Amino acid sequence: MIAYVGIGANLGDARANVLDALRRLALLDGTMVIETSGLYRTAPVDSSGPDYINAVACIDTSFDPHQLLAALQDIEQAHGRERPYRNAPRTLDLDLLLYGDQQIATDTLTVPHPRMHERGFVMAPLGEIAPDLVIPGLGAVHDYLPLVASQAVEKIG
Ligand code: ATP
Ligand code: CA
Ligand code: CA
Repeated sequence: MIAYVGIGANLGDARANVLDALRRLALLDGTMVIETSGLYRTAPVDSSGPDYINAVACIDTSFDPHQLLAALQDIEQAHGRERPYRNAPRTLDLDLLLYGDQQIATDTLTVPHPRMHERGFVMAPLGEIAPDLVIPGLGAVHDYLPLVASQAVEKIG
């Protein structure tokens, strides 16, 4: 199954944490990284602390959605992710943005990620690698890019 993962970090060496997350995604069982966006620097939106480094990865995985979420949380834990309060600064955050064209709503997992389309730090990197991708229930990624264009997102590499 093709899935898209949003990656963000704003504590420690945020850039190194994002790059390490990409490496760890590629090492997951039955998972290949098909494509990764560049790295983007964004000011914290709903969060606080230093600027974020964000990226999006397209993966091909044999994990089911909940297995994939658990694997993403394992990678966060490997970076000492703590959740002291909602939207706290974090060493590493991995969100499951899209899982094929599935719409999932359970207590622990909502896909498509419910806030992805209103976030420039998600849509800019996603638009780089998959502008024509359809977000189930919403529409094509490129149709949402103008709506987040006012959010300052700087591509850094
Ligand atoms: P946001 O979801 O607004 O980006 P966040 O990433 O800071 O906020 P977390 O503390 O990382 O939120 O996650 C809280 C919970 O969200 C997780 O325990 C997980 O069960 C749940 N969750 C629901 N849907 C998803 C998803 N698509 N990807 C990742 N986590 C999800
Ligand atoms: Ca998040
Ligand atoms: Ca998260």
